[in-house]
Amino acid sequence: MRKKILLIEDSPIQLKSIELTLSKLEHEIFTATNAIEGIELVYQTVPDLIISDIIMPEINGYQLCRLLKNDDVIKKIPIILLTQLNEKLDSFWALKAGADCFITKSNNQEEFLSQVTNFLRGAETISEEERQQIIKDKKSENKDLQTRINNLLDQSLIESTIINEFRNLSEFIYSTRILSKELFSLAYSLVDFNVACIFFNERDDKKKKFLQLSIQNASVEESVLMDIKKDFFNEIFPDTYKKEESSYDIEIVDALINVHNKAENISEFHSRLVIPIAYANKVIGGIAFYHLKSERLNNNKIFEIIVKELKILMRIKWLYSETKYLAIIDGLTGLYNRRFFQQTLEREFARSKRHKTCLSLAMFDIDHFKKVNDVYGHQFGDKVLAEISKIIKSSLRKTDYIARYGGEEIILILPETTTAQANIPIERIREKIESREFMNGNEAVKITISCGIAEVESDVNTQEELLARTDKALYESKRAGRNKTTIYS
Ligand code: GH3
Ligand code: MG
Ligand code: MG
Repeated sequence: MRKKILLIEDSPIQLKSIELTLSKLEHEIFTATNAIEGIELVYQTVPDLIISDIIMPEINGYQLCRLLKNDDVIKKIPIILLTQLNEKLDSFWALKAGADCFITKSNNQEEFLSQVTNFLRGAETISEEERQQIIKDKKSENKDLQTRINNLLDQSLIESTIINEFRNLSEFIYSTRILSKELFSLAYSLVDFNVACIFFNERDDKKKKFLQLSIQNASVEESVLMDIKKDFFNEIFPDTYKKEESSYDIEIVDALINVHNKAENISEFHSRLVIPIAYANKVIGGIAFYHLKSERLNNNKIFEIIVKELKILMRIKWLYSETKYLAIIDGLTGLYNRRFFQQTLEREFARSKRHKTCLSLAMFDIDHFKKVNDVYGHQFGDKVLAEISKIIKSSLRKTDYIARYGGEEIILILPETTTAQANIPIERIREKIESREFMNGNEAVKITISCGIAEVESDVNTQEELLARTDKALYESKRAGRNKTTIYS
């Protein structure tokens, strides 16, 4: 069957030569010497196949591909790009741009013709009826070519630009606040909203988490922001929302207040879009938009891109927080490791000296642990260590730091706490462990721990001195018969 082939080639000599070669196939051939002319012919003739050169002035072959593949009706016409060299990058781009096939320009006419024939045979045919319909439709759209090209260009450009902008944000993953701020600013350049909120589900249970907010062109009462938070978390965590909600504080990172757009009640937001971001069955974050006017958040295409890109970004951020977490956590006990302890003590010690606030250090050591290992085995010893860590962790404030100092030594940093104050929870922990039955199969094993406490006083000049005092107090507990707490004096 005679088919319509559109050939686009800017060099007149090459155009003539390829046309001559193609004519042997006895199809109908249209020619254009640049992409714009080519696009015009596409809309006028709706060919069965487009063969185009890549390197052309103004619009090149890749761009032509991108343009035509952005038109929902035209995109089914196959495009063959003629690559100059047998360059891998050329063919890579050709396919990425949406070309259906690429053929390396060569002097071998037979090969070229057989490739085109093969391709035409495999390609879907456009019926004459369909062709006339498309031509008629395109004509009645009554858009001039420039508008059409601009629209097509815009669409593909917008998409890749947005993606690019999102990818650039990954450099801010170290700071949730900065990342959120940048994200809001990018989102606001894409969609109109009055309130947007975002959270990243991170792997650090110590840090206070924040639901970051951006208010744009509105004034929103505090109580409404709380309702938004509730609404948002309720939708994202339908089962555990109370717990999740309480672990996040609200933080406004960006606000452009307009008192004429006052929101005194959440019901005044007539558009609402809540998007959870999940990965491997786990919610790694979420974003939500609210607008006072109705039907403002329904540009699906844009939100599709936002969600896709956020997923990547949030996953990177999750992995980053996970890596950071693993670097400071002891695997057996789940407590901070010694390195993190050293860093934290350094910081807290300096802070205590600077602000003249109290700081206590407490060290636990399990009594006769060697014997526990010898009698019940190392595995049971590990289990005891993990259980004791859990008891200690659940008995202290969130602001205290608990670290595994050595083998079976656990150390606590208690900021803004005197030894007398520290003694209370520590004695409670000691008693809890004393009364606990550690099960080795069916056998209940009793374990005790000893503790030493010391605090920063005016004659404590270094953190090493503080540690030495704590150690001395612990030694005193051991000497006095174990299962005791001693305050350094
Ligand atoms: P004391 O009451 O004087 O503290 O007696 P102790 O036997 O606990 O003596 P010490 O603190 O010197 O010994 C610590 C022992 O704890 C040595 C080691 O066998 C054991 N241990 C240290 N780390 C681990 C661990 O990760 N797992 C297990 N199962 N045992 C450990
Ligand atoms: Mg011990
Ligand atoms: Mg020890």
